Amino acid sequence: MNRLMTCALAALIMLCGGNASLAQSEVKREITRISGDLYRFQNKFHYSVFLVTPEGVIVTDPINADAAKWLKTEIADRFGKSVRYVILSHDHVDHSSGGEVFAQDGALVVAHEKAKSTIIGENRPTAVPTITFHKKMTIELGGKTVELRYLGKNHSDNMIVMNFPAERTLYAVDFIPVKTVAYKTLSDAYLPGWIKSLRRVEHMDFDILAPGHGNLGTKADVTAFREYMTDLYDQVLEQARLGKSLEETKAAVDLSKYKDWGQFEAWSPLNIEGAYTRIQLHRRGN
Ligand SMILES: [Zn+2]
Repeated sequence: MNRLMTCALAALIMLCGGNASLAQSEVKREITRISGDLYRFQNKFHYSVFLVTPEGVIVTDPINADAAKWLKTEIADRFGKSVRYVILSHDHVDHSSGGEVFAQDGALVVAHEKAKSTIIGENRPTAVPTITFHKKMTIELGGKTVELRYLGKNHSDNMIVMNFPAERTLYAVDFIPVKTVAYKTLSDAYLPGWIKSLRRVEHMDFDILAPGHGNLGTKADVTAFREYMTDLYDQVLEQARLGKSLEETKAAVDLSKYKDWGQFEAWSPLNIEGAYTRIQLHRRGN
């Protein structure tokens, strides 16, 4: 073996070994109680919730297959119950993956009707939903309830929210960050439907907001984020209508009242870019 090959091999071994230990230590998994029998499941930067009832457990986003396997074992160990329902917030792969871990044991998979067609069409690595709905659905199990609602297009065209009335908690993913600006260039987003969705959430009856990322919040955080999205949209629309370029728009839009929010420096310029791109497409009739 020549010296170059030896070095390359040594580097590879170090890289692989380093990555393996990093991957293990990086995945923080934790279960914490939100209220009553409603719990929050953390897998690194992603969160879902689950409700324990006398007749079994209702889980929400499985996040990925490894996370779902860990959660399934923890639920069996801690509560001695099987999972009866898996409810998917939307089709995006970082939240919906791993549904098959519960479906193979007989859990019913619930999602919005548009999520089902996207999960099939995009071949998402999860179980195909067995129960779908258009606007509203209520699931009752063991005397407990979760209310599912579709609020229109926002961060996705198939996002639902899950309200746990007895626990006064709403689980909402990706379209209501808590004290944080929106994710980068808004990805798979629909404006101004997003703002309408936020108004609908403000009219719902709950106290605790359990988001798909970051800390728990309250309804006041929904209002604050709706104001942010409205400021973003209105100011970018005004600049676009004045014929301004993206760079001019970035310079003119003032979101400084949100400067203390998470990711403000990094993502708010990208939020402006995302809003500008969508507004220009819309103005061209696309
Ligand atoms: Zn998403």
